[in-house]
Amino acid sequence: MPAAGESVLQSPKARPQDLPSIDKLLRLPAAQALVAAHGHTLVAGQARTLLDSLRTQALAGALLTAEVASDALGAALAACVASRLAPRLQRVLNLSGTVIHTNLGRSVLPQAAIRHLTAMMEGPNNLEFDLASGSRGDRDSIVEGLLCDITGAEAATVVNNNAAAVLLSIAALAGGREVVVSRGELVEIGGAFRMPDVMASAGATMVEVGTTNRTHLADYARAITARTALLMKVHTSNYAIAGFTSSVPEAQLATLAQARGVALVTDLGSGSLIDMAQYGLPAEPTPQQMLAAGCGVVTFSGDKLLGGPQAGLIVGQRDLIGKIRKFPMKRALRLSKLPLAALEATLMLYLQPELLAQELPTLRWLTRSREQASATAQSLLLPLRAALAPRYSVEPAAMTSQIGSGSLPVETLPSAGLAIAPLLPGKRGTGTALETLAAALRSLPLPIVGRICEDRLLLDCRCLDDAGEVLAQLATLQERLA
Ligand SMILES: *Cc1c(COP(=O)(O)O)cnc(C)c1O
Repeated sequence: MPAAGESVLQSPKARPQDLPSIDKLLRLPAAQALVAAHGHTLVAGQARTLLDSLRTQALAGALLTAEVASDALGAALAACVASRLAPRLQRVLNLSGTVIHTNLGRSVLPQAAIRHLTAMMEGPNNLEFDLASGSRGDRDSIVEGLLCDITGAEAATVVNNNAAAVLLSIAALAGGREVVVSRGELVEIGGAFRMPDVMASAGATMVEVGTTNRTHLADYARAITARTALLMKVHTSNYAIAGFTSSVPEAQLATLAQARGVALVTDLGSGSLIDMAQYGLPAEPTPQQMLAAGCGVVTFSGDKLLGGPQAGLIVGQRDLIGKIRKFPMKRALRLSKLPLAALEATLMLYLQPELLAQELPTLRWLTRSREQASATAQSLLLPLRAALAPRYSVEPAAMTSQIGSGSLPVETLPSAGLAIAPLLPGKRGTGTALETLAAALRSLPLPIVGRICEDRLLLDCRCLDDAGEVLAQLATLQERLA
């Protein structure tokens, strides 16, 4: 392709009538090979689209005769077909420094879950079939025993995600009645998941008590009436209220709820099934603790700290879980066999807690030390520096990672990676030079997602298991930046 406008002007131009008919285009050997591989429907559709676009270019005087040669047309058609068949959902390398990154698909499944998932999808399975009796079974039973063993709950059920778990629990247990919640816990998790809206969607009336920073047991006690169905605790996962604060521990609320004949539901958000502090990570309340404190129902996510597939886990007292399971909305929110298989295998790892730090990618990344991340960064340093010279400088740098997905944003993990700064300004300054590089990294066959921070592009190596996956793409990166 000619680089400068001048040479385009001098090259011979194709006219619309120089383009082949669609039949003629499809008879080219290259097109026939595509039809053999993909069938007529897709290739003919792409041929039509290609010819339409070339015709528009020809009418604008912007199509070269070289572009209507048979070879060029065959190659263009192959490119169209390949592009149409390129999945929109792509694997990426998460060097953003946020481990459980919602936009990047949150937790990565452990190998055991991938294996089980694949095996179960390869044929029919006993999703709702009791192999012992030959009669209809219940899909919840696949994970209920595991969840009860791990959390100490009497019963458990699972739905599509934790937002669904909260919505369903409130709708089933408090529809048409009142739910008492602290003003300090009216969380917005992101998107449309805001506690007041969830209550309204569930058909419950929210009764706010206390203040933003302080809520006391007496506030709850005063708010309970004959219309009250639930006391609700929401884990303030993505923000911190610091300073002059006070909230009521679950155990005290549970005692109050029991005395007044209402249930206590806790939305834990992330909810880790193990004690995070044993790995030197910020402590996160566990469903086990919540149930032991007397909560009737606890909900949490499958793909946050648990490290499994997207799912909403609901554990608690048998009568309450029974009501939730029988509520019609449950059918609309139920978990499909794909995440159910992945969840079963992920929970199995929790029966073998010694394996978790190695087998669960989320935990492996969260527990990776700054020294380990730094070693990965060192292995990238010289090759990346060479690939980006002379336009960018590349330096090893200490940085901090975030846990992500509703774990306290103030809790960071010491990490290391590479800091890239422009040496030559882009067309419109340093900012555009960094944006250009970030865009080139995202355009790679295995896109690399970093983060821009104060005039530098940071590549946090905490979540990079295989530096080879970056190194193998440096030549392509150089081409993209050329
Ligand atoms: C993340 C979160 C949710 C939503 O969970 P999803 O699994 O993303 O649907 C609800 N409540 C809290 C407190 C959360 O942190």
